Amino acid sequence: MALADDLPPREGMDFDVVIVGAGPAGLATAIRLKQLAAAAGSELSVVVLEKGSEVGAHILSGAVIDPVGLTALIPDWKEKGAPVDTPVSEDRFYYLGPAGSIRIPNFIMPPLMNNHGNYIVSLGNLCRWLGEQAGELGVEIYPGFAAAEVLYDEKGAVTGVATGDMGIGKNGEPTDRFTRGMELKGKYTIIAEGARGSLAKALMAKFALAEGRQPQKYGIGLKELWEVRPEMHRPGLVQHTLGWPLDDGTGGGSFLYHYGANLVSVGFVVHLNYRNPYLSPFGEFQRFKTHPLIRETFAGGRRIAYGARALTEGGWQSIPRLVFPGGVLVGCAAGFMNVPRIKGSHNAMLSGIAAAEAAFAAIAAGRAHDRLDAYEQGVLTGPISRDLRRVRNAKPMLAKFGTALGTALSGADMWANTLIPGIGLGYTLKHGKPDHATLEPASRSKAITYPRPDGVLTFDRLTDVSFSATNHEEDQPAHLKVADMALQQSSEHDVFAGPSGRYCPAAVYEWVEEDGKPRFVINAQNCVHCKTCDIKDPNQNINWTVPEGGGGPNYSGM
Ligand SMILES: Cc1cc2nc3c(=O)[nH]c(=O)nc-3n(C[C@H](O)[C@H](O)[C@H](O)COP(=O)(O)OP(=O)(O)OC[C@H]3O[C@@H](n4cnc5c(N)ncnc54)[C@H](O)[C@@H]3O)c2cc1C
Ligand code: SF4
Repeated sequence: MALADDLPPREGMDFDVVIVGAGPAGLATAIRLKQLAAAAGSELSVVVLEKGSEVGAHILSGAVIDPVGLTALIPDWKEKGAPVDTPVSEDRFYYLGPAGSIRIPNFIMPPLMNNHGNYIVSLGNLCRWLGEQAGELGVEIYPGFAAAEVLYDEKGAVTGVATGDMGIGKNGEPTDRFTRGMELKGKYTIIAEGARGSLAKALMAKFALAEGRQPQKYGIGLKELWEVRPEMHRPGLVQHTLGWPLDDGTGGGSFLYHYGANLVSVGFVVHLNYRNPYLSPFGEFQRFKTHPLIRETFAGGRRIAYGARALTEGGWQSIPRLVFPGGVLVGCAAGFMNVPRIKGSHNAMLSGIAAAEAAFAAIAAGRAHDRLDAYEQGVLTGPISRDLRRVRNAKPMLAKFGTALGTALSGADMWANTLIPGIGLGYTLKHGKPDHATLEPASRSKAITYPRPDGVLTFDRLTDVSFSATNHEEDQPAHLKVADMALQQSSEHDVFAGPSGRYCPAAVYEWVEEDGKPRFVINAQNCVHCKTCDIKDPNQNINWTVPEGGGGPNYSGM
């Protein structure tokens, strides 16, 4: 058989618009493109590639959604049966100590934090429904196909993407399953990969899209879905906490949303600018569930799903250039998450709509493969900008002053931005270091011992991962590429004591002792595609690339 470098040419397909990622951003783009074409009586071919085995399989979110994006896209979503059924009925916010809690009164919370009018949903199920709406409009959606490579023309403009080859074995050679990837070309290519997209990362580097911006900041969000006893279920209750089990210098907090048929989404976010390499976000999440305020909710209930995903936290000052020749970034691939509101899905949809409108107008004018500057201007002056500008100092304040003081100061700042819209106190704080540069050496850090899981309320990582239904073809090259194994040992292991073994929510990385020497083991088949390793490895020595399409978690209802 031929070596992977010596493969037959790829077949190609041409479309008007190629969209990478069937999350809220990509699906909103596709739907609005088709709506515009139908209104104009014109034909427009739109394709969406999704690396999950089905639409929604890789979507993990809270989620309390602000329906502003959905309503702008499909005003009659209620009549059309969108799975958006649980309105928020109560908002609670607590600061936790090890044994007690203080409830922060709702009236001192900045109004933008109020969830009145919002809904508790499974974002994965909402995406499944959006996928159906897109399909009915004639969008071609290909789940199980990962976009692995960006295609360029001779002038350097993006002309589309190529899907990965299937059936390349561990040794890099084609197997019996071999199928060559496809080239999908479009007049415009929309990158809707969500937080830390692998193609977005390559495009940012090639076109220097992040130059002059503050570094993007991230968090890792871990989530379990529980079915609780009916007497513990309070449909519409939205509860957030700060504080314990994190120390004041480590940012993060929890969410707990009651919705559907006795369902509770419980999750924990740890900001990835944490310093102690011994910290385990998974361990903090498990410990959080044991707090007296929390544990009662789950007594007699059962965990039905688990997963994890990175989220963007840089906000306004970290938004990269959104356009490049031949395409744009939308949704969390561009970083439109509002951190204090813990919401990004509304901006993902609004950005998809804006991108569709710019691409449709350009195609109607006979253009292709150029810059959709109208999209960037629309985002920077429209509702996404207004949403993000008023919270722009919240994340830097938490990072600078710690959770307690930082929350108080950012609350005051958000109030000022509410009372003096568009201006606030007039300053924009910087983020400082990127998240991969914040770890302290292990020698200067305190080891953390996490309690043993009880298997009822708290779990070990591997058991939890089995509730993500993650599956990858075993005979394929590892999709987690370590550029320099010697550096991994001399720095990640020797200096930082192997933080990958703790930050990875799926127990992919381990350092094992072999012949008296440490060896880095990568259990790539467990990977839930959260992208944390790509973000937090202290040397940026791990590169997350797409595995074979269809691999990864098979989230249901996340
Ligand atoms: C723990 C957590 C809690 C959250 N809570 C809330 C909340 O309560 N409310 C809220 O509004 N927002 C919340 N968010 C944020 C929200 O989930 C995101 O803002 C939103 O999902 C972003 O949408 P997106 O379409 O940009 O990306 P995503 O939803 O990440 O979707 C991207 C899609 O693209 C696919 N993809 C990626 N790369 C490729 C590729 N190369 N080829 C093919 N397919 C690809 C992925 O598989 C995925 O399906 C939360 C996020 C997390 C992690
Ligand atoms: S290997 Fe990386 S992307 Fe995969 S689950 Fe672990 S940290 Fe997340």
